[in-house]
Parts: sequence; structure tokens; C-alpha cells
Amino acid sequence: MKIQGSKIVVIGGCGTVGSLMARVLKDKGADVTVSDLSTDSPQIEILKNEGIKLNLGEHSEELLKNADIIAVAPSLLKNHKLTEKIRKITDSDIISIDEVLSLCKVDKPVIGVTGTNGKTTTTWILKSILNTAGHKVPEHMLDMQGNTELIPSLQARLDGKTAVLEIGTFGIPDEIKRSASNSGVSIGIITNISRDHLSNSGKFTDYIKCKGEIIEIANSMIFNADDPIIACLEIGKKPNKSLFYGIEHINSDFNAYPEERKCPICEVDLEYNIHYLGHLGIYECSCGFKRPDAHVKAYDVEKNFFTLVIGSKRAKVNLKNNGIHNVYNALAAACGAHALGIDFEDIVQGIESFEGVKGRFQEINVGKRVIIDYAHNPAGVKAIIQALLQEKSINSKLIVVNTISSESGIKGDMEIAKILKDVDIIVVASNASRNAISEIEVYNQVILTESSKKSSKKGTLGASKEQVEESLKYALKEAGKDDIVLVIGEGGVKYSAEILEKFKN
Ligand code: ZN
Repeated sequence: MKIQGSKIVVIGGCGTVGSLMARVLKDKGADVTVSDLSTDSPQIEILKNEGIKLNLGEHSEELLKNADIIAVAPSLLKNHKLTEKIRKITDSDIISIDEVLSLCKVDKPVIGVTGTNGKTTTTWILKSILNTAGHKVPEHMLDMQGNTELIPSLQARLDGKTAVLEIGTFGIPDEIKRSASNSGVSIGIITNISRDHLSNSGKFTDYIKCKGEIIEIANSMIFNADDPIIACLEIGKKPNKSLFYGIEHINSDFNAYPEERKCPICEVDLEYNIHYLGHLGIYECSCGFKRPDAHVKAYDVEKNFFTLVIGSKRAKVNLKNNGIHNVYNALAAACGAHALGIDFEDIVQGIESFEGVKGRFQEINVGKRVIIDYAHNPAGVKAIIQALLQEKSINSKLIVVNTISSESGIKGDMEIAKILKDVDIIVVASNASRNAISEIEVYNQVILTESSKKSSKKGTLGASKEQVEESLKYALKEAGKDDIVLVIGEGGVKYSAEILEKFKN
């Protein structure tokens, strides 16, 4: 079967996966028409712009008769009536996503980014660097994260010079391995590994194993040297080429929410010389295990700049996104770019021109400063709170709207509630955050909203629009002009911008 030059009809091509199948086939030289019963999909514009023909509201018999190949989106493949109907019209080959993946090979370097936090920002900084260096980077263009199995695999096959993919996981064994393998990942990046409640050590080991699966697929790996859990993943995997990044020196004093870790080799407590953020820092153990030397380093770290050092090159780099966690994201991206052979100057310029990602340290000004952040687990909450406590002036208040419902249930929610003891005012938006705060002792001001009495959890979404709106109203009422309102969690990211439009006037 030949893709190039063939007339291919993609059935169900207006869906997320279907539209990517159509775009991959088009990029590989096929004459593609999308046929879909739907006439209203955000993908339609994208497909048109790519020069893909459309047959909407029907599956035209004429079109199917003339096609060399019929590709069917996964969601429709189970529809036997449809496949029978196609069979009656034509005896052309009917192919599925599996055949699209095997017929269209990955023909470029692919960087896969995984880890607990920082995947999205790292991915986008790396793309900014590659764009600066003149690389075309394929985009899935879907209005979603798109980091689970089929989407990265298709994205890697779109036209471009280098692909950068976020590889997510639901924590199922072999999931990352399969996704990285289907996507042809050649360079893997692991940003950091943490989990909500560490008492559950058996499960945490499984979680580490899941995140480490990318090592089995990638030819070379990029590790955060300051994370002992990641640093030990490299041991015994010497056939891979490994590069490390880390922070060497920091200028200011700050509350790092230090977290201790056991030595992954001999299981005694690690000795930390310094904690930068949670369990990330400079550590060693009497058994000889210690923080590896970094190839890509940050010195003189301040809230929004640092000195980047790679080999004999060094430059001061300004960040638009504050916080130690964003220094780590920039280092991970710089290390990825360095592994690809990108010039140092392009790396620096690419980091500096990065404007931020929606919902990650996203600032909206409504006369008062509001920051929206996707932080949804304890490590993520620590990172953003640490950054803002460091940034705010001594007389201003930090007001936090908590829309989170932790993936690990009440224990995770309680851990988050404890971290928030350091802020001035907590506004409880989600039902989960309300339940958690009733379980712990708090000394700061807490506002319990009426709407948080009701649970409105949907999947990972912890709060409804109504809950976010009521909480924002209280938070803005409490905030003075020098104060910071921080909204954390998926509900906040989903609804805040729209709600805040109303407060602008
Ligand atoms: Zn040890």
C-alpha cells in the first residue's frame, strides 16, 4: 500500500484523532478528503488551512468509490454498520490508526518530555528555542493538552524538522513505554518525580518505574540532577547517553519547603547541603550516591533571571515566568536543545522570548493582580507558593483561591491545605478543599464559600464555574491594589479568564 499520491478518504476526520490522521496522510503526500457527518467542529478550519478537502454532513458514495484507501478514525471503527456500508460501496483498502502509524514513519528527531510537573512549560520553552533556531516544529493544534497515547504518536509524524512532545500518563504500567515507542522518541527528558503522599511507598516505586520507562525507548536521556529519584534512574542504564541539568548556586534566602528523601540505593536519609524546591537540591549519601555533575547549569539564580552555563559558554538569561520551578523548566529545555546541537545563542534567545503558557503563572490584571496556575498536586502548589512568597512585598497579602480536588483524594487535599498555611487568606472553592481544611488546624483567614458545600468534581476537574465565580468575588473583595490573588487548580484555569472579563469593568 502506498500513501504518497494515493486518494485517501478519512472517515471521522473532524474528530481529534481523525483530524491528525488526515493531516499526517496529507503531509506524507496523499490526496486527502475528510468525510464526516459532523458539520461543526473546531478542526474544520485547521483542515481547510492544510489544504485538505472536506465532505461534510454525509459520506458521499461517489467519493468512497473513487478512493484508493479509506482510513477510519478509531472512534468509528467499532461501528460495524458503517464499515459494512463502506464495504458494499468499494473494495479499496480500509485502514485504521495502527496502519497509518506503520505506513507513515517518524522521520525526524523526537524529544519526549515526561515527569510529574513542568512538562507543558518545558515543552513550550524548547519549542521557542527550536523556532529561534529556525526549526519547524509540528503542532497538534487541538484545544487540549493532547499528551496521551495516540496524539503524540500522530504529532511526531506531522511535517517538521524536530518534534517536541509532552508524554503524559494515567499511571498505568507500559503506557509511557508504548507512547514513547509509537512516537519514535529519540531524546527523553524527565523533569521531576514526586507524589502526593509518600507513605504509600510500594505504589510510589511503581510510579517511578512508570516515569522511567521512557529510558528504555530513547537513545539519549536528559535528567534533572537535583532530583535524587531521577538521578538514580540513570544508574545501570549506561548504554544510553545521559545529560544532566541542575542549579549550582542561588542568590537569595527563601522558604524552600524542604522535603527529605531516602537514598534510593541504601535507603538511609540523604544529606542535603541545600534544598532549592521540595526534594530538589544538592544531596549526598554515605554510601557514595550523590548528586551527579550537571552539564547544563544555572548560577546566581534570582526570581526572574539566572546565569546559564553550558561548557565554556555562559550568559545571563531573563525569564518572563518567575520562580525556581521555571528556572528548572528553562534548564530542561536548554539541555534538550543542547543535546540536539542547537547553538548557545539560540538557546538563550529562545528562553528569553518565551511568553508563557495559558494557565501556567498566567497573569490577568483587573485593577488587582490575579495569577492563574494549573498547580494541582502538592509539589506544584509548593512551587507556585514559594515563587509568590518570594516575590510579594512584605506588606502585601497573598490570597489563594483553591479549586483543586487532588488526584490522590483527601490525603493529597490535606497536604495542599497544609502548604497554604503560609498564605494570608484562603478562599475555598472546591468541595475537596473545603473538606480538607476542616481536617487540619489553620491560623490564617479562611473564607468558606456557600457553593463549595456541594461536590461538583468531574474527572480531574475539582470545581464548577459557579464555585470559581463565587470564590473570585470574595478574593477580589479582600484584595488591595498591592495584593496578589492566586487561583490554583484545573477549575480555576478553565473558568477564571472568562469570569474575570466581567470584573474588568
Ligand atoms: Zn545511600
